[in-house]
Amino acid sequence: MYCRRCGKKLEDGATSCPACGTEVVEVKQRPYAEKYRAQRQAEKAQRASERQAAAEARAASADSEAQYAKQAGVKDDPYVTPALCLGVASLVCSAFPWPAAWGVGTSMWMRILILLLALGGMVLCLLATRVEADNVRAADAWNRGHKKRAFTYRRPAALMVARICCGISALMALLSFFTV
Ligand SMILES: [Zn+2]
Repeated sequence: MYCRRCGKKLEDGATSCPACGTEVVEVKQRPYAEKYRAQRQAEKAQRASERQAAAEARAASADSEAQYAKQAGVKDDPYVTPALCLGVASLVCSAFPWPAAWGVGTSMWMRILILLLALGGMVLCLLATRVEADNVRAADAWNRGHKKRAFTYRRPAALMVARICCGISALMALLSFFTV
């Protein structure tokens, strides 16, 4: 150990420097690993509390979004799920690799069934689109009147999927009448 003022070598256990009289202050040095661990723990705790705050903020904003949607008169679209079901059903029927021996995949009744499913799904898509348009109008009207509490109306993604499924299978069914 050396004096922190004059740099003279000090005896072990000396309380002051024999040359300049400066008091010997022992600085407890925490091992680096311990310091690192403590720092890591502090950072972890900080991150956890930040995550929690963000989650709470998200939940709060989701709550208020749902509330505003209700106040604005945005309704659940009851046609989306049936439209999606019919769309997926018709697509599965038209794309499923039916064993040729069964004679199902190319049979007339199968083609008609696929076409009916797809057309039914398209009608439901149209109904769902009307509800969606009403909701967009309601959300716009509400947002015009409540600038600060604006919310975004999300068009149902399932409806887009339903439209695609119905469109593809209807097209495939129609084509099958002309090709085979
Ligand atoms: Zn000294």
